[in-house]
Amino acid sequence: MAELSNHGNLNRAKELIFNSNKILVFSGAGLSTESGIPDFRSPGGIWSKYDPNDFYFDRIIADERAREKYWKMSTEMWETMKDARPNKGHLAVKKLEDMGKLLCIVTQNIDNLHQKAGNSPEKIIEIHGTAITVSCLSCRKKWPRAEIQEWIKQGIRVPQCDRCGGILKPDTISFGQAMPPDKLELAYRMAQVCDLCLVLGSSLVVYPAADIPHHAKRNGANLIIINRDPTPMDGLADVVLRESIGNVLEQILGG
Ligand code: ZN
Repeated sequence: MAELSNHGNLNRAKELIFNSNKILVFSGAGLSTESGIPDFRSPGGIWSKYDPNDFYFDRIIADERAREKYWKMSTEMWETMKDARPNKGHLAVKKLEDMGKLLCIVTQNIDNLHQKAGNSPEKIIEIHGTAITVSCLSCRKKWPRAEIQEWIKQGIRVPQCDRCGGILKPDTISFGQAMPPDKLELAYRMAQVCDLCLVLGSSLVVYPAADIPHHAKRNGANLIIINRDPTPMDGLADVVLRESIGNVLEQILGG
């Protein structure tokens, strides 16, 4: 396995990035913790306070009380991310796009921070959806999230569609809800043609998303993993750096 976090490793990562022209950035929660958004799966995160089993898609659909609990949890999550700003790591990814090196971003994050950092929306594949819009599950009417949160602030505990009375849900992928097949397919296609997969802050344990970097590697791309903790794919990677994403990328790309 690659040696960790030494100077040689940083140079190797730099060399791989500078020799690549079609970089697929694969980002996860660890990228956004540096913007103050907690990793919901970490100890003290939202899933140590709420039981994820209460929020399976089928339950949210079937049961009004489950929906009420869902909106309470989801509102709490939204509060942590609505005003968050992109950090050095996000800005480095924007720089990769400015340098003409970015093929696309496949992100597990729902926080809109790649867009806020200035990356082109058409380069961002949000495989777990986005928290910044809400849709009616029946008629597909869509709202900005802030508008629905305003209803909730005014005392509505379970918002309903004002056009058809249908169930409203943020456009995030819930437990037990299938990933959008078009996005997943696009991500796989990109993984097939990228020359470098740069994993930023993902522990690579949530499937099928985590299979994307593996697929890139299988198809001949190099693989760099920058994540605080070990991942099941470290053994496959060309370089593993267990350091702050922002600091590493700043050292590689300049401030
Ligand atoms: Zn509707």
